[in-house]
Amino acid sequence: MYSLLLVLLLKLPVTLTNSVEKAAYLTVFHIIFVFFVWTYWKSIFTPPQQPDKKFHMSYADKERYENEERPEVQRQILAEMARKLPVYTRTGNGAIRFCDRCQLIKPDRCHHCSVCAMCVLKMDHHCPWVNNCIGFSNYKFFLLFLAYSLLYCTFIAATVFKYFIKYWTAEPTNGRSRFHVLFLLFVAIMFLVSLLFLFGYHCWLVSQNRSTLEAFSAPVFSSGPDKNGFSVGFVKNLQQVFGEEKRLWLFPVMSSQGDGHCFPIRTQSEAQNPLLANEEQWEEDGTEEGGQHNYQQGTSLSIEMET
Ligand SMILES: [Zn+2]
Ligand SMILES: [Zn+2]
Repeated sequence: MYSLLLVLLLKLPVTLTNSVEKAAYLTVFHIIFVFFVWTYWKSIFTPPQQPDKKFHMSYADKERYENEERPEVQRQILAEMARKLPVYTRTGNGAIRFCDRCQLIKPDRCHHCSVCAMCVLKMDHHCPWVNNCIGFSNYKFFLLFLAYSLLYCTFIAATVFKYFIKYWTAEPTNGRSRFHVLFLLFVAIMFLVSLLFLFGYHCWLVSQNRSTLEAFSAPVFSSGPDKNGFSVGFVKNLQQVFGEEKRLWLFPVMSSQGDGHCFPIRTQSEAQNPLLANEEQWEEDGTEEGGQHNYQQGTSLSIEMET
């Protein structure tokens, strides 16, 4: 990309004769370039966010859990811990999602990244292009990075295209500039097409409120897997990533809703009865009492998400 910048900067002043056009090209180019670098920087250097301390096992719980050999009792210890936490998703077999390596109860949408060796809130994927985990803390920056890269490549391809036609139809003047224009157009279009697919895919994911991991494997709730479990409508899905203040949407500053630990759930009944499906297995108290407790938990979550 940087080579593209150099070539373009070298190329434009000699190719363009109109100084107004020249100034306009360079101004627009630099505005896009600044945003492109800014979002890339933020995607790379924003560290992935780990779950809060309250999701980690206490020393006493850890001892109890490790000394226990019966898996069903281990499940019960985790269920007891999870009762105090706003977790609604489960493993495929209905157990509380627990990370052995980090020794914590995974918040909803949190996954362990083996590259980063930590649990990452609302993990999307580990991106080799930015050498960072894309998750709750930097998903907005990553999306903007894709958008500005796309814009950057589109601008280069569009401005170079007419010179490409000119060089290849008119009589040959300078062999080297012909090669520059060809190279520039080819690289810009190559990146443009790949980015278009990736950005389009992520736009679709945002509209559905899914992470890349959730698109491959649907989150499991007490009622079973539900790929649309976190989708609360197009506008609200968008606001979860970009925030409510529209003036911040295009800038790589943190404006996502919530703290990454809990997310509104699509069905009200799901939010009200987070542990219902596994209640019989885990609840020692009466069904009614347990249901009431969970209802209160669900209510506090929705209040938390609205503020
Ligand atoms: Zn972990
Ligand atoms: Zn990672």
